[in-house]
Order: sequence, then structure tokens, then C-alpha cells
Amino acid sequence: MAEITLPTEIRLDIVTPDRLVAHDAVTAVTIPGKNGYLGILPGHAPLLTELAAGELEYTSGNAQHTLVVDWGFAEVLGDRVIILAQSAERVEEIDLERAEKAKVRAEERLKRFDDPQVDMERARKALTRAMVRLETAHKHRG
Ligand code: ATP
Repeated sequence: MAEITLPTEIRLDIVTPDRLVAHDAVTAVTIPGKNGYLGILPGHAPLLTELAAGELEYTSGNAQHTLVVDWGFAEVLGDRVIILAQSAERVEEIDLERAEKAKVRAEERLKRFDDPQVDMERARKALTRAMVRLETAHKHRG
């Protein structure tokens, strides 16, 4: 009988239009999927999902890594996970002042709901991104 060997690691790549944000061998990944968070361990069934703005975490060796990703796609295939995100930054990289300013800007736009110049959907997405950045940074950096 053929022997079945299950993978013990996942090769994770996190890519944005600008850069390769992570390229690591990991033992677990949590992905912010459009319909909720997905926990991926080695040997997970193949899947393709849309990403939501949220926290992505992975474990590599004894280290836990946290990033914020925006919209995009995640593909799980064999021992690989590929994240293609519109934006992704490590929690250590989050600029709090910048996120705070983006939040205020989005909130100001959302108040002008009767102004046809304002793209409400865009402002809502910008607000969500800013809030996820702020919450994640506060949670993990104290
Ligand atoms: P802003 O209006 O401040 O640019 P944004 O939400 O519109 O915020 P994005 O379009 O999501 O910004 O991201 C553009 C690039 O800037 C991405 O590479 C993203 O990782 C980075 N970035 C955005 N906001 C921050 C932040 N607060 N800290 C660190 N990097 C950020």
C-alpha cells in the first residue's frame, strides 16, 4: 500500500502589488476570509477565498507574526498558502498617526452623505482599514 505522508509545514507567501511581505515556512495560519476567520494547518483541503480587511496571523518556529491585510484572495493548495492582498503590513510597521488621520478623514467623508462628490463605499472601506490597523496595533503593541 502506498504510504501517505502529510505535510508538517506550509510555505506561506504574502504578496501585494508593491512587495513580497512574507515568505516563510509556517505551522499555522489564520486568514481573515470574507465569511469569517479561517484556521489553516498543514494538510488543509484546497480552497480559494476572498479576503476581508482584518488580521492575519501565522506561527513560524516559536514566533507568532501578525499582519493587517486588506481586500484580496487567499489560495490554499497542498503545502502552500498564497495571499494576494491589495495591502498588507506587519503589525510593527503600522503607523498609528497615519491610521488615525485616515480614520478621521473617512469619518468626515461619511458625514457628507448628501454630497454626490463623496464615494461612500470607498470612505467606508477606508474607515474599516484604518480601524483594523488601529485595533491590531493597540492589541499587539500595547
Ligand atoms: P492612507 O490614506 O493613509 O494612505 P489607506 O488605507 O488609503 O491609508 P492603503 O491604500 O490601504 O492606505 O495602503 C497603501 C500602502 O500604505 C500599503 O502599502 C499599506 O501597507 C501602507 N499603509 C497604509 N496605511 C498604513 C499605516 N497606517 N501604517 C503603515 N502602513 C500603511
